[in-house]
Amino acid sequence: MSTTETNATPLAQLVEPLDRKQIKLLCPKCHDCEAAVQVNLYCPSDFHCLECDEEFTAADVQEVIEATARWTKTLTWLSTMPDLD
Ligand SMILES: [Zn+2]
Repeated sequence: MSTTETNATPLAQLVEPLDRKQIKLLCPKCHDCEAAVQVNLYCPSDFHCLECDEEFTAADVQEVIEATARWTKTLTWLSTMPDLD
């Protein structure tokens, strides 16, 4: 006795929304802070921005994170400067 494949539809319904989940995130391509980014859970390093229709990878996001970290350091440094007026 074996299990049948007739129950495939509920599984598809369960998997389908997870497959292409949309999360509001900063897009490294169009720099929209709340872009609807499509995350493919079967390929978690590939992303698709629905605002600019560009594809990008986790490496592209990492670049933005590092660039933003430099901004954070710069702003922190500037905030310690004495007033010059
Ligand atoms: Zn975008």
